[in-house]
Amino acid sequence: MEVDCGRIRDHDIGKEVVLNGWCRYIRDHGGLLFVDLTDRYGTTQLVFEGALKKEAEELGKEYVISVTGVVDKRDSDTVDASNPTGTVELRVKSFKIINKSKVIPFEITEEKEKFLPSDDLRLKYRYLDLRRKKMLRNVEFRDKITKTIRKFFWDEGFLELETPILVKDTYDASGSRTFITPSRMHKGKFYGLPQSPQVYKQLSMIAGLDKYFQVAKVFRDEDPREDRQPEFTQIDLEVSFKDEKYIQNLIESMFKRVFDEVMGEKLEVPFPHIDYLDAMRMYGSDKPDMRFDNVLFDLTDEMSKSDYNIIKKVISAGGRVKALKFPADMGKKSQKIDKKKILELVEIAKNLGLKGLTWVYVVDGKIESDPPSIAASLAGISGQIISKLDAHEGDLVLIGSDPSENVLLAAMSKIGRVVGLVLRQTKKKYAFLWVDKFPLFEKDEVTGELQPMHNPFVAPTEETEGLLDSAPEKVLGKRYDLVLNGMEIGGGSLRIHNPDMQRKVLSKMGLSDAEIERSLGFLIEALSFGAPVHGGIALGFDRVVATLSGEYDIRDFILFPKNRKFESPLDGSPDYVSDKRLQDDYDLSVKNEKKS
Ligand code: ASP
Repeated sequence: MEVDCGRIRDHDIGKEVVLNGWCRYIRDHGGLLFVDLTDRYGTTQLVFEGALKKEAEELGKEYVISVTGVVDKRDSDTVDASNPTGTVELRVKSFKIINKSKVIPFEITEEKEKFLPSDDLRLKYRYLDLRRKKMLRNVEFRDKITKTIRKFFWDEGFLELETPILVKDTYDASGSRTFITPSRMHKGKFYGLPQSPQVYKQLSMIAGLDKYFQVAKVFRDEDPREDRQPEFTQIDLEVSFKDEKYIQNLIESMFKRVFDEVMGEKLEVPFPHIDYLDAMRMYGSDKPDMRFDNVLFDLTDEMSKSDYNIIKKVISAGGRVKALKFPADMGKKSQKIDKKKILELVEIAKNLGLKGLTWVYVVDGKIESDPPSIAASLAGISGQIISKLDAHEGDLVLIGSDPSENVLLAAMSKIGRVVGLVLRQTKKKYAFLWVDKFPLFEKDEVTGELQPMHNPFVAPTEETEGLLDSAPEKVLGKRYDLVLNGMEIGGGSLRIHNPDMQRKVLSKMGLSDAEIERSLGFLIEALSFGAPVHGGIALGFDRVVATLSGEYDIRDFILFPKNRKFESPLDGSPDYVSDKRLQDDYDLSVKNEKKS
């Protein structure tokens, strides 16, 4: 009987079985040789003895073998309670080496992460790293979520459609470039790789396909950032004749199903909502981490009346002051978060470019500080600070100031999250939040031109649509982001379905008629053949999977990811292409001295 390495149990004792797998750990105990044989399903201990032991001495780590043997009970002192097959072992009768292995470049160990080699070595030998149980669990976890999501959408009557990978380079997602691919048949012309299936899912709605979803690979040529990959996966969908509420309910039900079936946890729905402008005002962030109640309090007026000269200088330079309150009873009972941690926060603040960060405590109804000089300079406004923040005994108050409001808000919201994590002031493991009604446009900081805050297909709200000509920056879109634990895990919108409105929005972004025609003329034409009201959303699937498994690094959940420089140490991509091929196939040449 051929079984996998995780199968045999006490009730198999005496049976003859065949196992195939990898020799993970090998221990020579003189008369006996033990091998832990492993595959995707588990590990079984093999015992080689007598003449066979001699033969088995040539086995090396990660050799692939096929063995035939008889299941036997283990001595009670060698039972491994951590392994489901740990009460039995296989007494080998014969074996065959299917393939040898070179000496492995790093141990395939289940020990702590600190034994892991460098990232690039792990990526170069990704197929070996994937043999680790933890990585295997990640692969399986992702697969389970993918299957659950697919089943969910099939049950809801969605069509799983495949949109093209070789597409036109159009406006699609903001802030990133499109990867381009030269055409051999049409020299001098290029395809773009999709930053998302956006335009094609809209065209599918115009085609009458009504309910679309896809587990879609998408590509963005961005500057490397810690948690980014140049290609990643979206759970992408689009529906016709529905509103925001329908789409948001659908996503909530989808997560509910994932929590029920994969996580074995109850998920509370509906998720809370906040409008973008309120989120920015209250939390200084469009993705507040709702595991913590990190409301920002404005102390600009109060501080301008204090004797705290450094902050007063920032205020007179046009800056603002924001404060965060951390209730004592949420943290350790000791009342004070330790000073080392605060100094780490000051360091974070500096790295974020924040001009000033100071901290005080509420003790006996007054402000105290370490050093006391800070509290002394705030003595005159201490009562006002306490009442504005509704602060109580033992609360920690962090006060930040900066001439730039953007820097101040970004830094304070980040600091709030870090302190929250340090104090573990939450019982919530997963905090979902819908952020609604984003502005349609934002101003490019350099050129001052309007650009879409997300993409140029977002429908304006009825209430603000009339401002498109007079005050376009005040127009809000029917756009919603989904935030989980302070990370944006998805976003979508209702789309513009009127060709004139689409043209108008593109022209507000400074595109000439000719440019509009050239890049998105085909979409505008499609919109003029009877486009339904439509909208959708895309979730960043790699991030969703990592977060639900309680991890951060999305690369641990992508089968063959790129490194932080967006290279693949595994296959050596990106790589040069010979001059001859470039010339002959594409009529192209590259100026590059380093070329080999
Ligand atoms: N295509 C959009 C994105 O990738 C999502 C959407 O609006 O559906 O961000």
